[in-house]
Order: sequence, then C-alpha cells, then structure tokens
Amino acid sequence: MSVLVFVEGLNGEIKKSSLESATYGSQVAQKLGTTATAVAIGEVHEEALTRLGEQGISKVLYDGDSRLNQFVADAYVKVIAKAVGQESAKVLVFSNSNIGAAIGAKLAVRLNGSLATNVTALPKIDGGSFVVTRGVFSGKAFADVALTADLKIIAIKKNSIDISTSGGTATVQSISADLTDADFAEVPKETVMQETDGVLLPEAAIVVSGGRGMKGPENWHLIEDLASALGAATACSKPVSDMDWRPHHEHVGQTGITVSPNLYIAVGISGAIQHLAGVNSSKVIVVINKDPEAPFFKAADYGIVGDAFEVVPKLIEAARAL
Ligand code: FAD
Repeated sequence: MSVLVFVEGLNGEIKKSSLESATYGSQVAQKLGTTATAVAIGEVHEEALTRLGEQGISKVLYDGDSRLNQFVADAYVKVIAKAVGQESAKVLVFSNSNIGAAIGAKLAVRLNGSLATNVTALPKIDGGSFVVTRGVFSGKAFADVALTADLKIIAIKKNSIDISTSGGTATVQSISADLTDADFAEVPKETVMQETDGVLLPEAAIVVSGGRGMKGPENWHLIEDLASALGAATACSKPVSDMDWRPHHEHVGQTGITVSPNLYIAVGISGAIQHLAGVNSSKVIVVINKDPEAPFFKAADYGIVGDAFEVVPKLIEAARAL
C-alpha cells in the first residue's frame, strides 16, 4: 500500500503546483507509515524527476511516450490508473489544476474512488476515518469531507501547501500502460500556451492585473511595465476582456482563469465576488484603488488608496531600481 502522486511537467520541469502535491503526498504517507511514489507523464527531464526526492518522493514511475507530450485526458487516466494498480495505492494526490479537474472525476469512476477537490489541508486520519478539508463557495467557506472508498483521491488547491525541500533523491522507473490509437481518439487539435514575457499566467509567481479603473487599452503599458519590472504575468478583470481591451485568456475569476501567485497586484479592480473567486488563493494581495470603500480592500493584505495613474508609475520606478 502506498500513496501515489500524479505530477505535471512544464518545459521539462515539474510544475510548482505539483511540487505542492508531492509534499502533501509524502506527508500523508508519513502519517500512514508508508511511502510516496509519483507518476509523471510526457516531456519531463530525468533530473527534475529525481529531484522529487526533495519533496519526500521515494520513486517516480515515468511514461515518456511522446504522444503524451500534450494532455489527452483518457490516455493520462489510463497511465495513472495503471500506476495506482501497480503500487496498490490507497491515496492518489494531484493538483486541482485544469488537468487535475479534467481527470479527477474520470479516475474516481474508473477506480471506484472517493474524490475531494480543492483540498486545503492534510487529512485527519483516525482509525478507519479519513477526513479532508476543502474550500467551498468560491473559497468563502470550508467543508470537512469524509472519504469512504478504499481509494481516496485528493486534488490539492494551489498554494495551500508549503513545498518541502528537505528530502533526498528519487529513483526513476518506466511505466507503460500499453496505449493504443483508441486512447488518442480525442486529441486537442491545437494547444496554445499564452505567455507574458515568457511567464505563463496560471503558473506565475507574481501577477499584475488591471480592471476598468485603467480607463482604456491605451493605458495598459502601465500594467505591462510594472509586470515586466517584477517578472510578472499580466491579467485583467472580465469587463476588460469583454470590451476587448485585453485578450480573453488574461481574464481571471469565476468564469476565467484561477491564479495562485505569491503576489497578486490588482489595479483599478473593484473586487467583485466573481473576480475574487479566481484570485483568493494568492499568498499576498495588493490592491490599488482610488475608492477607499472598494470591496477588494477587505481581501487585501496591503492596500493603496490612490489614483492608479499616479501610484503605478512610482511602483514601476521603484521596481526597476530593485
Ligand atoms: P468596476 O467594477 O467598474 O471597478 C473599477 C474599479 O476601479 C472601481 O473600484 C474604481 O473605484 C476603480 N478606479 C476607477 N478609476 C481609478 C483610478 N484612476 N485609479 C484607481 N482605481 C480606480 N468579473 C471578473 O473579473 N472575473 C470573472 O470571472 C467574472 N465572472 C462573472 C460571472 C458572472 C455570472 C457575473 C454576473 C459577473 C462576473 N464578473 C466577473 C463581473 C463582476 O461581477 C464585476 O462586474 C467585475 O469584476 C468588475 O470589474 P472591474 O472591477 O474591472 O470594474
């Protein structure tokens, strides 16, 4: 019996959210007195796989089939299911990412497991009971959920777990699920990675985001210059993309992308609940708004009451001087 962690790769490295999952998985394994194994799929450097030992992973099962370099839900599910069986895993952990959301329910049905998404803390394990805490109502509340099936499947909310770096080195073994053409019947025609200065928005450590308070697309150089000075990705509120000031892939919130950066800087955004739903797992939120009553200030760690057109140029100057 072991704990299995599915880790995602990006440009040959393991995504930060998957390092969080690996840390979580090995901490659960410790609680259960067992070991944590990872399964990785597609284009990931071997060195990145062995480094998963730092998060407490003892062994990595790797399927390097080049057809898996882009995400194909049914094929990924088949490889992960094979790894679950091979390891007799009782707990399966992965990130609550877009990929995690696409495979979670499929795996639960295929393996007859109990699935909890958006999990924010280590489980409470007492005798036969296994209870996890998950965020609900767009992160406004938490619910404790008992996972009762033999296989517990846990999708971790990004930024909920501090990544550990104290472990050793993981060994890497191949795994193959004997995939056939039928497993690739539904392959995405095109996968587009939208980056700002090489920074991918869902994985960005810093995000600078603008709202309707920016007045128009002609002022977006302020958001871009601040982002560039900080090595950040740019984002926006929904009305901004609806008005075509910015492309739709930058819109964050309930109907857009969910981001979990270490630092989220919101400029001229009111802080409607639908916007907060996409940003409230950010570690530190800074709000710049000229209205001291703007609701976003309630969710902010730091707030600047002021005109964006005066405040942001000063921040750019300060960031460039760093
Ligand atoms: P506004 O609400 O117009 O706020 C602009 C802010 O800028 C104000 O607080 C103002 O004080 C400030 N401001 C103005 N001038 C300046 C200045 N010079 N300097 C500094 N501050 C200034 N929204 C999303 O963002 N993401 C979603 O995913 C999303 N999904 C939705 C889903 C549904 C079903 C619905 C009904 C709505 C959704 N919305 C979403 C819309 C959401 O309710 C808000 O309308 C939207 O977030 C407001 O965008 P905003 O803050 O940019 O604009």
